[in-house]
Amino acid sequence: MSIVLVVNSGSSSLKYQLVDVAAGEPLAGGLIERIGHADGRASHTVGHGDDAQTFREEVGVPDHDAAFARMLEAFEAHGPSLAEHAPVAVGHRVVQGGARFFEPTVITELVKINIDELSVLAPLHNPANLAGIVAAEHAFPGVPHVAVFDTAFHQTMPPAAYTYAIDRELAEKHRIRRYGFHGTSHRFVSRAAAEFLERPVEELRVIVLHLGNGASACAVSGGRSVETSMGMTPLEGLVMGTRSGDIDPAILLHLERRAGLDADGVDDLLNKRSGILGLGGHGDMRDLEAAAEAGDPDAELALEVYTHRIRAYVGAYAAQLGRVDAIVFTAGVGENSARVRELSLEGLEGFGVELDAERNRMRGSGARRISTDASRTEVLVVPTNEELEIARQALEVVER
Ligand code: AMP
Repeated sequence: MSIVLVVNSGSSSLKYQLVDVAAGEPLAGGLIERIGHADGRASHTVGHGDDAQTFREEVGVPDHDAAFARMLEAFEAHGPSLAEHAPVAVGHRVVQGGARFFEPTVITELVKINIDELSVLAPLHNPANLAGIVAAEHAFPGVPHVAVFDTAFHQTMPPAAYTYAIDRELAEKHRIRRYGFHGTSHRFVSRAAAEFLERPVEELRVIVLHLGNGASACAVSGGRSVETSMGMTPLEGLVMGTRSGDIDPAILLHLERRAGLDADGVDDLLNKRSGILGLGGHGDMRDLEAAAEAGDPDAELALEVYTHRIRAYVGAYAAQLGRVDAIVFTAGVGENSARVRELSLEGLEGFGVELDAERNRMRGSGARRISTDASRTEVLVVPTNEELEIARQALEVVER
């Protein structure tokens, strides 16, 4: 049996998917939102693709234990039967694994203490992930639970890539270094790209551009992350939906001294009110593109800043890798926006990157090539599937 329940637990949400790893497909999935509020919402989808059926309900869900009870009820009411499709493991997405976790790990009391302790570095995410783990253990006793860390894939970065140029003692004391995120996606996509190209991942050098609400670039050499754009937190790097990405750190001081913002104010500004939302008034790329199309100059500039930054990272990572076999676009924006892909790689023909306008415009659901046949660097679109990757990794650990 190769069925794994994948859990992604946020502070007020629970996302789950029951995955058949051998088939590479979800049997069911769901989302419970507004946990802790009176007006919670639950949706449960059975099957996938065109045959999927979704059931929605409004329910009060006071805490994560209640959310799991709600999930079990949904399986009971709408299927598939968990008795017939019993998961052999529960895979948990955990955002911050620090320098401690470099691979998927069976959850023990000690692992939970470590995840809790790493909350210092991810105060919004790790406590919520841990609440989900504890509740899932109540709901699924006797099944191994496995933590799959967003940071783990990037633990192969060399010190030159993960070290910030600040006082070493202070940095060590406060564990200030680049950890990187979206690791599960970068790993899945870089491997799927190798499969698509029918070449061993060990010999490939690729740049993965994960462009979703959050966005990050990753240089992958021989299947290992050697550099990534997110840093100690998911704020660094590319321009995102609501996050600024790279910014001169002295701006923070300026804002504190001149604009009267305190630490929380700066945090809110850079994480929630910046990026394409701050620049163009839309945090969602579809809305931003529509506004730019309609001639809104702010939206147009936002698109330019967004793609200018991507191009800068592609150049930097090409220099770090020495050779680029493929540039791979993934996640909501990367998989769907032909305009963003085109603008991001504009002017790189001299470096052997040639986009095929027609292939880029064509929509498709699987992995596909969007470069010309003559392009020295392949440009691909590869849909990410973090749930499948978490399920695969969890299964691998329990089968060891
Ligand atoms: P994700 O976080 O991977 O779900 O990606 C969410 C982002 O993908 C949002 O900014 C969406 O606007 C964007 N997105 C989804 N579909 C499209 C599309 N067809 N064109 C442009 N952006 C899209």
